[in-house]
Amino acid sequence: MSRAFVFKALAAAAALSGALASAPVVAQQKFITIGTGGVTGVYYAAGGAICRLMNKDRARHGIRCSVESTGGSVANINTIRSGDLDFGVTQSDWQFHATKGSATFQKDGAVTDLRAVFSLHPEPFTVLARKEANVTKFEDFKGKRFNIGNPGSGTRASMEQLLTAMGWKTSDFSLASELKADEHGAALCDNKIDGFFYGVGHPSANIQDPITTCGAKLVPLANAGVDKLVKEFPFYAAVDIPGGLYPGNPSPTRTYGVLATFVTSAKVPDATVYELVKAVFENFDEFKKLHPALANLDPKKMVKDGVSAPMHPGAVKYYKEKGWL
Ligand code: GLU
Repeated sequence: MSRAFVFKALAAAAALSGALASAPVVAQQKFITIGTGGVTGVYYAAGGAICRLMNKDRARHGIRCSVESTGGSVANINTIRSGDLDFGVTQSDWQFHATKGSATFQKDGAVTDLRAVFSLHPEPFTVLARKEANVTKFEDFKGKRFNIGNPGSGTRASMEQLLTAMGWKTSDFSLASELKADEHGAALCDNKIDGFFYGVGHPSANIQDPITTCGAKLVPLANAGVDKLVKEFPFYAAVDIPGGLYPGNPSPTRTYGVLATFVTSAKVPDATVYELVKAVFENFDEFKKLHPALANLDPKKMVKDGVSAPMHPGAVKYYKEKGWL
């Protein structure tokens, strides 16, 4: 073996051990992903806001946060269950059903590892109609073309609950399309559908766009089926979409709705969840400004309302320090 070779081998070994010595720093960099919804919805913006605050302090905690556009509430819970997402936004009705193993979650059973982190903005079930559709209430959509939402969305799952409560089937529509929320506005203005249903926070670009593009109208959703749901389930409440929030829709629109909530898995370490809630609540004024639907949030309500899964211990630790629990 030549001297030069030995020297090179030694140098390489030294470089390697140097690399190994600094390896723990690299290995400590952790990645978390938040499942949201369509990019024009509020979940995507809310997830982005959480990651932005989390990433601000990355040098200290070593966690890099990113968001993923997904099919929505039910898909997020299922992907948290499979371990491919760490966090997700989900409607309070689907947090409840996943925890109990009811409705959509009956088939695969309760998601026992699902953990609550906090709740977010209200999500009224929002029905929008083409200006020319001749519709003044939800029931007028019988025999018309209606978008019931993509499979995997909370929207779609809640729509199915509503149709059952009303004694309707998807065949009561002449067309029950399954477009994603990012597609339903253009479909409405292109006269491919007469209306759509969407569980979303307000104001939302997704609703604003078809209203400004083709004069779409908000439609009230209040009937015996809705009353039955609100009476039966704690997570539903009758609400108004305030008048004047969108152009050409000056009056309040009666409907019912849920809360958006933020969830994770029991498998996510306490320290990670603690850092995340800390990032949100220590920068809360900034958080509320990152999307207008977040503007009215109140921390004391966020740790209680809409929560049906057990609270993650990392979140409990922070809320106790704050005296909120
Ligand atoms: N609530 C909707 C769903 O889960 C998503 C709303 C949004 O993306 O803001 O289907």
